[in-house]
Amino acid sequence: MSEQDVTVLRQAIKNSWPRSQTASPKVKQYVGQFWDRTRRDRRITAVVEGNHGDYKVVIEAQENGLWSACSCYIGKQGYCHHCAALGLTFLAEPDSFVVIEKVERTAVTDLNTLQAYLDSVTLDELMSQLRDKGMTQKAFCESIGMSSRHLSAIKSSEQRNRHFHELGATKLAVLWVMEHLGEL
Ligand SMILES: [Zn+2]
Repeated sequence: MSEQDVTVLRQAIKNSWPRSQTASPKVKQYVGQFWDRTRRDRRITAVVEGNHGDYKVVIEAQENGLWSACSCYIGKQGYCHHCAALGLTFLAEPDSFVVIEKVERTAVTDLNTLQAYLDSVTLDELMSQLRDKGMTQKAFCESIGMSSRHLSAIKSSEQRNRHFHELGATKLAVLWVMEHLGEL
């Protein structure tokens, strides 16, 4: 399964950035310069030093094609030269990306496994699990005193590999509600 994810991701990257575009010196200077390289299924993230600080870059092969985002000033919608360079870096050195394994909730037994679990599941995934149990995002937000728009902003920053202070706490709140939903 994992190998298949790599193949799909490689193909999506090749389709998105034709050779002519990736040969530009603007892209080339960043290839191989990324750190904190991770891969989770068909999604890769890494950080690179740009002209105005460190940029967080994400590429994800989705059903309808490739999605990318970067924290540089032109990269909000993806497809900046950092995104292209991350794609090329992955094509050249796929094994340098640390694979984040899926952790089952039932495997959480201590703080270390809790951390691994929280890293392996997105807030978006947790919210859809909650929805499957019959609780909407709106109802959840009301129950913890958070605006639905704020929760959407947290989900969006996680998707974009941006740091958000409340991410871990919000995931824990969803977990708590899910575990206790039958009793509430
Ligand atoms: Zn960028």
